[in-house]
Amino acid sequence: MKRVVILGGGVAGTLTANYLVPKIKERIKNEEVQITLISDRNFQIYEPGFLYMIFNRLGEGELKRNLGELVDPAVQLVIDRATKIDADNSRVVTENGSYDYDYLVIATGSRVVPEEIPGLKEGGHWFYNLEGATRLREALAKFNGGKIVVSVMGIPHKCPVAPMEVTFILHDFLRRRNLRDKSELLYTYPINKIFTMDPVVELIQPMFDERGIQYKTFFNPIEVDAKNRKVITLEGEEESYDLLIAIPPHKGAQVIIDSGLGDKGGWVPTDKYTLRVDGYDNMYALGDATNLPVSKAGSVAHFQAEVVAENLAAEIEGIEPTAMFNGKAFCFIETGWEEATYIWFDYFTPPRPVLPSKFVHFVKMAYNKAYWLTARGLL
Ligand SMILES: Cc1cc2nc3c(=O)[nH]c(=O)nc-3n(C[C@H](O)[C@H](O)[C@H](O)COP(=O)(O)OP(=O)(O)OC[C@H]3O[C@@H](n4cnc5c(N)ncnc54)[C@H](O)[C@@H]3O)c2cc1C
Repeated sequence: MKRVVILGGGVAGTLTANYLVPKIKERIKNEEVQITLISDRNFQIYEPGFLYMIFNRLGEGELKRNLGELVDPAVQLVIDRATKIDADNSRVVTENGSYDYDYLVIATGSRVVPEEIPGLKEGGHWFYNLEGATRLREALAKFNGGKIVVSVMGIPHKCPVAPMEVTFILHDFLRRRNLRDKSELLYTYPINKIFTMDPVVELIQPMFDERGIQYKTFFNPIEVDAKNRKVITLEGEEESYDLLIAIPPHKGAQVIIDSGLGDKGGWVPTDKYTLRVDGYDNMYALGDATNLPVSKAGSVAHFQAEVVAENLAAEIEGIEPTAMFNGKAFCFIETGWEEATYIWFDYFTPPRPVLPSKFVHFVKMAYNKAYWLTARGLL
């Protein structure tokens, strides 16, 4: 029997499992192949929903589903935390057992590490995990005007466009509550421009200007002075705030670091086309977990899952795997309460943003509901 172990029950792991099952259904039925998905939690969270949850537009219940509802019943679902990937012996060790594999798929995602910026936990907010989004929702509901700083504190981070989106939505949120005249909005970014991709900068920067949204570049926070409400940067600047919304630094999963499989950020070195883990013929990595020069986005995980599932199915059938990932990413960009644009790009094609519209925003709102069909592998 061939054993496929998928580690992680986010978009990447769930979709890999759900795309793989139909391709090798007979072999699973005949017990020639077993697919096991290991996740340290029994639910999945739709993280893009945090952007709406903090403004009370989506509830926590809309962002969570039990993995048992999402993963194909032909997959053995194990809720347990992996503590080590023993690559030499092709085994995943968990808190409560161990799982030998012929093929391993690493889909352990990324996590925020606010503790890496001293004072951030005490003095700041974020919306990049459920606990942070819940706290920020309360802070926003109580906000009565003042200076909001939206600060990107490290690259790479999940959903590169989300900091710009939250800034635009904040602008309209404050207007709707009659607080915009009493408030300042400052967006900061660590490099020499407000975003990594020039075509996006060309669209977004004038829109910030029109709305009176201030921005600072080359702004790399190293400390938050929670008592005096100031962000202190590597460049020697100090910026005061009334409400700090940080995009905290990110890292790969602890198990990747503990297994010696990651680079210094805990990202798994991965071939950008085949998605094989460098140096291992029987290991694939996808989604946020990799070191690839692509957005850490659910859409990327989705496109990669198609490639990994196709190649795994080929290997199981004894055929040479030929599917290649071309770097494809698709991102909606909310540019206000009720307007949005979108970009798509790949390794060979730069993004060409279109002018924002209400229509694109409503498509995104519909997708927020339809996502659970995607997770099941149906959309
Ligand atoms: C605010 C916000 C907005 C976003 N907006 C968008 C958007 O509009 N469009 C878009 O495409 N993307 C968006 N994203 C990004 C998207 O959510 C992520 O890129 C996506 O969730 C990555 O999927 P993944 O499966 O690789 O990782 P994850 O979703 O992080 O899943 C990893 C899973 O592995 C599990 N795991 C980790 N370690 C272990 C272990 N040791 N043992 C067992 N299980 C383990 C975790 O618990 C988790 O369930 C957004 C993200 C945020 C935070």
